[in-house]
Amino acid sequence: VHTKLPNTETSIFSVMSKMANEYNALNLSQGFPNFESDPELIALVERAMINGHNQYAPMPGDIFLRERIIEKTNTLHNSNYTSEENITVTAGATQAIFTAIAATIHRNDEVIIFTPAYDCYAPSVELFGGVVKAIQLKAPHFTPDWNIVKDTITDKTKMVIINTPHNPTGTIWSEEDMLTLQSLLKNTNILLLSDEVYEHLIYDNAIHYSAAKFEDLRQRSFITASFGKTFHNTGWKMGYCIAPKELTKEFQKVHQYNVFSVNAPIQKALATYLNDASHYLKLSDFYQQKRDFFLKQIQSSRFKFTPAKGTYFQSLDFSEITTESDVVFAERLTKDYGLATIPTSVFNKNKEDFKLLRVCFAKTDNTLEKAASILNSI
Ligand code: PMP
Ligand code: GLN
Repeated sequence: VHTKLPNTETSIFSVMSKMANEYNALNLSQGFPNFESDPELIALVERAMINGHNQYAPMPGDIFLRERIIEKTNTLHNSNYTSEENITVTAGATQAIFTAIAATIHRNDEVIIFTPAYDCYAPSVELFGGVVKAIQLKAPHFTPDWNIVKDTITDKTKMVIINTPHNPTGTIWSEEDMLTLQSLLKNTNILLLSDEVYEHLIYDNAIHYSAAKFEDLRQRSFITASFGKTFHNTGWKMGYCIAPKELTKEFQKVHQYNVFSVNAPIQKALATYLNDASHYLKLSDFYQQKRDFFLKQIQSSRFKFTPAKGTYFQSLDFSEITTESDVVFAERLTKDYGLATIPTSVFNKNKEDFKLLRVCFAKTDNTLEKAASILNSI
C-alpha cells in the first residue's frame, strides 16, 4: 500500500492499554472511567430502544437533543446558536474533529496546533494534504508564547486548533489567552477548531473560556464536545460539533457521507438526561474530589506535580527519580510495578521529553489508592 500517513503509528492509547492488559497492570493510561455511567441514563437508553427509536436519526441529530445542547451552550456562554443551523451530533469528538478538518482543509493549507497535542489532530490534517505547524508549549504552564504564534501565522494558515482544558497536561487557557488569540485572528479568514471535550471538568472554581464566549472567535469556530467525558461512557462514542451556519453546512456535507447520522436511542436518552443541568454542572466537584483524594496520597512521593486545573489527567514530573526517557520509564512502570501511564512526549512533534507522565484519575477511590501506593513505592 502506498501509505497516506507515513508518520503515523498505532495510537499510544491502544499501545498502553494493551500493555496494561498483558502485564495485568492498573490502567491509568488511556482516559476512561472505570466506574459506571448513571443507571438513570442507562435506563433512558433502554426505554428509548423499547419505545422503538431504533432506526436512523435525522442527519444533523435528534431534534430534541440538538435543542437541549443549544440551550445549554447559549446559557453557559451567552451565545446565540440555533438548533437548526449550528449543530451536528457526532460519533464522539473524534469524528467531529475529523469531519471539521475534512470539510475545510485543502492541500498545502497550514494548520497550527499546540504541542503536546491530542493525537488525532495532525494525522487528520495530513490526510487531506494540510501542513501541520506545531507550536511547542513549555512546562510547567503550557501557555503559548504569543509572539511565536504571531510569527507562525502566514497567508497560508487555514486553521488553528486549540484544546482547553488541555489533554495531556491538565492546564487551562485564561480569558486573556482567548482574547489574545481573538485579536491575532481578527480580520483574517483563519478558522478555529476549539476542542472542548473537557469543558465540564474544571477545578478550583476556574471558568472554562469556550470559544463560544468570544464573538469574533465564535464566528470562525468549530467547537467539539464529547458526551463520553461528561457522562462517564466513553464507549458510547457520542459527541457534537457547534459552528456558525456556513461552517455547519460544509461540516454536514461531509458528515452525511461519513456516518450520515449517529446512534438514535442514545440521542433520545441524552436529550432527556440533559434536562437536568446538575448532571453536567456537578461534574467538576466530583472530579476535583478524585483529584484531591489522589494527590493527597502521593504528596510525599518522589513525583512532583501542580494539581490539574481541568480534565481528568494529572501530570507527574519524575525528573528526581530517573534520567530515563518518559517512554522507557512508562514501560518499566507498567512491567515492573504494575501501573500503566502515558508518556507525555508522544504528544510532541519532535518527541521532546519533559519527564512527565500522564495519569488518568477517572477511577474508583480503590484504584486510586492502589495506584498511589505504587507511586509512593518508587
Ligand atoms: N479530544 C480530546 C482532547 C480528547 O481527550 C478526546 C478523547 N479522550 C477526544 C478529543 C475524543 O473524544 P471522543 O472519545 O468523544 O471521540
Ligand atoms: N482521549 C482518551 C485519552 O486521551 C483516549 C481516546 C482514545 O483511546 N482514542 O486517553
